[in-house]
Amino acid sequence: MIRLEQIQRRYVSDEVETTALRDIDLAVSAGEFLAVMGPSGCGKSTLLNTLGTVDRPTSGRYLFGDQDLAAMGEKALARFRGAMLGFVFQSFNLIDELTIEENVALGLAYRANGGDRRTRVSQAMDKVGIAHRARHFPHQLSGGQQQRAAIARAIVGDPKLILADEPTGNLDTANGEQVMNILQALNEEGATIVMVTHSPSHADMARRRIDMLDGRIVASAMRAI
Ligand code: ADP
Ligand code: ADP
Repeated sequence: MIRLEQIQRRYVSDEVETTALRDIDLAVSAGEFLAVMGPSGCGKSTLLNTLGTVDRPTSGRYLFGDQDLAAMGEKALARFRGAMLGFVFQSFNLIDELTIEENVALGLAYRANGGDRRTRVSQAMDKVGIAHRARHFPHQLSGGQQQRAAIARAIVGDPKLILADEPTGNLDTANGEQVMNILQALNEEGATIVMVTHSPSHADMARRRIDMLDGRIVASAMRAI
């Protein structure tokens, strides 16, 4: 479904050049659950942002199905992101002034309206066990509940790929496990997930794990089943 070919990403600031990604070749199949690990600064976020098309590689190709994203303009990329991708962040990124159901509905943008919209939002909330909090505001929820709401927002539009950047990084053990169980259940239902994590036990819940170091992928291993 997805192929990164010879991706390089260099940053230049104050005349200091940093190579965040080097010679990245990565294929992600539909239905995969891939964990990305490695020390701070090794390029994990840059890799996820590249997959999310919010960061453009310096060189290399990014193929998504039969589309070459490197050749796509900003407007088309924004449409692509809205239709194809769901994002989950370490810090939840819910909007404080909106209720949980309104936050979840943001994941639909302008797609679907009226009854269809309400159905999809309540289905997504049901899936992550947050429906009873629909009319609450984010600050009234625990961290684990907020992250589950953020997952509902990510999946409500039925994305082809879910990108999660340390989704359990701000959660205690119990809430982290609950979030991981939800991601695993979504994957078993067919969702394709790429997740950055610092937790070896959470990485073990993915089907494949890659390790990065200094901008390169240095190891790749399938989970034994
Ligand atoms: P993490 O280790 O959790 O990925 P970082 O603090 O390394 O967090 O980076 C968070 C974000 O800040 C990255 O996604 C990147 O875009 C940005 N960032 C990291 N390093 C720099 C830098 N030297 N200059 C500007 N932005 C940076
Ligand atoms: P990780 O997520 O593994 O912590 P990042 O992808 O955030 O790593 O960063 C990889 C490298 O690129 C780091 O050296 C970081 O400082 C650098 N970097 C990331 N974003 C930027 C940026 N916007 N400008 C300059 N350097 C950056």
